Amino acid sequence: MNTLKHLEKGKVYLVGAGPGDPDLITMKGSKVLELADVIVYDRLANPELLGLTGEDSEHIYVGKSPNKPSVSQKQINQILVSKALSGKHVARLKGGDPFVFGRGGEECEELRANSVPYEVIPGISSALAAPAFAGIPVTHRKAARSFTVVTGHTIKGTDDFENWCHLVHADTLVVLMGVRNLPNISETLIELGKSPDTPAAVVERATFESQKVAVGTLSNIAEKASHLSPPATIVIGELAAMSHDLAWFNTEKVRADIDVQHQLLAI
Ligand code: SAH
Repeated sequence: MNTLKHLEKGKVYLVGAGPGDPDLITMKGSKVLELADVIVYDRLANPELLGLTGEDSEHIYVGKSPNKPSVSQKQINQILVSKALSGKHVARLKGGDPFVFGRGGEECEELRANSVPYEVIPGISSALAAPAFAGIPVTHRKAARSFTVVTGHTIKGTDDFENWCHLVHADTLVVLMGVRNLPNISETLIELGKSPDTPAAVVERATFESQKVAVGTLSNIAEKASHLSPPATIVIGELAAMSHDLAWFNTEKVRADIDVQHQLLAI
């Protein structure tokens, strides 16, 4: 990481912040945060990570918030390019992994077009962390030899309608940005021939203390997860049912909640 201070020209580091728990950033990512002059960060990057940054570093928030004017991708690109060209070392901090639905590719294209050097520091994507924190392996020798990650944002009723026929055959299907569209997603998969009994789970705010998990089947998951909201990850496939046996995170809290419910039922 000494390279950081020795470079004359600025550089942009696309840093994966991980899924939420600040301890899940990589060591390299945290070193970059410590040394960078400017931190350009998203809504899904845990703000606690800003505690790792240098005292004099500049922090620029570029996340989208409901009901507030948001910074366009074009503006973000301009910030990255202009800061780097003025000799700054910029950490572009993104939730999860910068190249998984993070528009990291577009930012690199812009940096390359402007001859700005960059480095990509992968992060733990929620596509992996959300199943892991719900006790769902995404592969298993007996049940799933592959997993597929897809956005649920563009299914049905949008200009970008995706053809989901091939996804019916996915072993484990991990859907990001899909929780608001879950009724559409489950209906579409069933219409296309996936068994309504296929296990399915939704993990909200994975890795945070407030994590919530709903487990069901394709036919009832929309209802079972109706109280969950973004950010949440959907997992569809045989392995989703393993959450019942393998859940390990916050399980004491979950058990305590169940006890309270039992006590209430007994009253
Ligand atoms: N680059 C990110 C994904 C950005 S798209 C990554 O690799 O994780 C945003 C989507 O990621 C959300 O809509 C949600 O589906 C998922 N996501 C992000 N953080 C999450 C979390 N803590 N728990 C569950 N899903 C999460």
